[in-house]
Amino acid sequence: MTPQIHLHVLASGSKGNAAVIEGPAGSVLVDDGITRRALLARARELGVNVDNIRAILLTHEHTDHIAGLPVFANHFGGPLYATAGTVAARERLSQLPFEVISRMDSLELGGMLVNVFPTSHDVADPVGFRFASIDENGEVADALGYCTDTGVLTDEAGQALTGCRVLALEANHDERMLATGPYPGYLKQRIHGRRGHLSNAQAANALPDLVTKETEVIVGMHLSHENNRPSVAVRALAAAVGAEAANETFTEARTPDGHLTVCVSAQDAPFSVW
Ligand SMILES: [Zn+2]
Ligand SMILES: [Zn+2]
Repeated sequence: MTPQIHLHVLASGSKGNAAVIEGPAGSVLVDDGITRRALLARARELGVNVDNIRAILLTHEHTDHIAGLPVFANHFGGPLYATAGTVAARERLSQLPFEVISRMDSLELGGMLVNVFPTSHDVADPVGFRFASIDENGEVADALGYCTDTGVLTDEAGQALTGCRVLALEANHDERMLATGPYPGYLKQRIHGRRGHLSNAQAANALPDLVTKETEVIVGMHLSHENNRPSVAVRALAAAVGAEAANETFTEARTPDGHLTVCVSAQDAPFSVW
């Protein structure tokens, strides 16, 4: 695949999520769980022009995905998209002029075909997205999968995420750290459950099916601050695809042929995948 779609993670984790997906003809903002001020500062840091944002897509209504949206939307002229369940779940969302999408929709935004797929989370109607650019022959030129906040990978997610060049997949927690960590029992149950969050092991177990020869970058997303570590997540994901440590801290890994890189996103350190 030819890189035509770029991922800019502005924030990822339970304190706030926002990512800009840059396509051939404009960008899309996925989730807005950080302040407008932080969003603008982080975009500037990465050299991302927010004036190119054509639309905003929401995965679901949890605060860490929407906290910044009401203010950002005030300054934004483009369309907002979310499922009917997401919009209806929060008054601050239902007051905004959303265009409702369904969990199996496809849209065209920023020169990309956006496929919506259902995720499994303890909210009304959560979704993930696959972004693809299509060449003049109708073939997929580049593809990026984005899936966070899901307790299990749905069949639809599995299909949508297979063969993407860039795979942004939740690796929320290490199962042992969660089990032995400080969280109260009900919260451990919730995170671990089918409508909670994907663990490092669950993400790693999915990789052999999702990764094809087209896949070049795997980004572990939405890492828990308490129940995970960048090196722990990278180690787990790397082992599943035969990648080896690419730096001393094991926060990045690469296959011996250099084709596939494994890395993780961070709550407060924005970064780009080109
Ligand atoms: Zn979240
Ligand atoms: Zn959530």
